[in-house]
Amino acid sequence: MPADKITHIASLTQLSCHPAECLSITTMENLAIQGPILTSNSGYTYTTALRRNSDLSVLPAKYIVQPAVYEDIPLIIACATSLSPPLEIAVKGGGAHSSTWNSSKGGVVIDLCKLNKVTLAPDNQSLTVQGGASWGDVYEVTGRANVDVVGSPLWFVGVGGYTLGGGHGPLSGEHGLAIDNLLSATVVLANGRIVRASRDEEPDLFWAIRGGGGQFGIAVEFTFKVHPSAGPFGSGIIAYPGSELPQVLRIITDWKRKQTSAERFTMTFSRPAPHFKPTVVILPTVLHDHDGTQTQKALAPFRKGAVKPILDKVELVPDMFTVSHAADATLQTLPKSLVIRGTLISDFSPELLLAVYDKWLAFTEANDDVRASAVLFDLTSPNKFAEVRSDETAHPHREPSYWMAVQGRSKTDASVESAREFATSIVSFVREKNAELSGRDLGWWVTLCQGDEKPEDVFGSNLPRLRKVKAKYDPKKVWKKGFGIEPLV
Ligand SMILES: Cc1cc2nc3c(=O)[nH]c(=O)nc-3n(C[C@H](O)[C@H](O)[C@H](O)COP(=O)(O)OP(=O)(O)OC[C@H]3O[C@@H](n4cnc5c(N)ncnc54)[C@H](O)[C@@H]3O)c2cc1C
Repeated sequence: MPADKITHIASLTQLSCHPAECLSITTMENLAIQGPILTSNSGYTYTTALRRNSDLSVLPAKYIVQPAVYEDIPLIIACATSLSPPLEIAVKGGGAHSSTWNSSKGGVVIDLCKLNKVTLAPDNQSLTVQGGASWGDVYEVTGRANVDVVGSPLWFVGVGGYTLGGGHGPLSGEHGLAIDNLLSATVVLANGRIVRASRDEEPDLFWAIRGGGGQFGIAVEFTFKVHPSAGPFGSGIIAYPGSELPQVLRIITDWKRKQTSAERFTMTFSRPAPHFKPTVVILPTVLHDHDGTQTQKALAPFRKGAVKPILDKVELVPDMFTVSHAADATLQTLPKSLVIRGTLISDFSPELLLAVYDKWLAFTEANDDVRASAVLFDLTSPNKFAEVRSDETAHPHREPSYWMAVQGRSKTDASVESAREFATSIVSFVREKNAELSGRDLGWWVTLCQGDEKPEDVFGSNLPRLRKVKAKYDPKKVWKKGFGIEPLV
């Protein structure tokens, strides 16, 4: 955003009266903004705008406002906070988080869907992404330009929530987390000021938004470091019967010893259609493979080991855009009632993984409604992100580790609670067992939290500084939704 515009908005907050009164704002409907203001009277557009990746995230907002320019946002905030009682404000980026953080019951949702522009710098060294873009929007641009940035393996995940939570992706083995590649951001603060944050401008804010979540303002723009294309990629699926997990884990233990930063996979315990039998699914991504040789080499142990795959469909694809659509067909068949929780593990310990498998098997066997529930483990080399000190950004988890997530899915409302309890019990078990096996309690990662975790378990020794930054940028807790951080005054 040009500096003169930033100054113009900044001046709103220097008025002697509340900005809403100065601007004679009476109701949200009357706001003189460029984006649409939707209510339940808006019909289909309102109903569509309520939708989220998980049906469990949907709440009936009083207003859904879709800012078309950054200058719309301070007016929305001013109006919501000046009403008596003030309206709750929720912010929606891509809407992928499975909590209700991106929705509001009776409040206003600032839905960033119209702010989704992606601009590659003329020198191809940096990429600026608006706060409501999805990774699919980004990969369309990077794919055309033959460059890459660190982003999500799935196209529909929002750049906003993903980046503010740290951002693990298929390129993290080579380039670290998304926040390690963030050069600057433009943020709308609770008081309506629009500021740029970088190592040199608003450094505390820049530190906090790299892993502290959406508690400090609305990030309307991110500028990321650009890398030469990591494609073509070997991408696809290798699957084994669940009963072969012990053998598969032996293969993984050997494979991991030689794993390079360009080789990674996600492993899931799931029951894929059409047979719905317990299955161990390996979803590999091999970077920089121009003729298939790298993928062949990397996946040979999975093909030539003691156990043969029941499915082996791995192909070369040109770019991250294609990689990010690989799971589309599978995801479409799954129930949309989804709760995700996750944590971190120090290693791919067979003892830990076998115990989780047994719990998952028992749960999905007992109740057909929750059969689509799955457990995921990500095996991307942690060496690059572990080069960063744990207090260098708000994201404290810098010792070598891997993330895992439980996706609790239910076909009917009657089983929602049981899927929730399953997700909670598995991640608690994993955290405790990992601590027992490794001697390290890795706590929780904010991106895979639901909000009931203890903040000290999420942010560790970075919590006191985060609370001070919260006091500086949002002392009145305008940003209440998301993983809460209490201001320290
Ligand atoms: C199927 C699936 C796979 C995933 N895989 C990965 C993965 O591989 N790696 C990984 O790191 N994460 C992964 N995630 C987690 C994902 O990164 C988070 O759920 C993230 O919050 C999604 O971002 P979003 O913009 O879609 O969030 P939303 O649901 O829109 O919002 C989540 C939170 O972020 C806030 N927020 C969003 N955008 C902004 C913004 N611009 N400014 C301020 N606050 C904002 C919201 O207010 C809310 O509190 C996955 C999630 C799903 C559902």
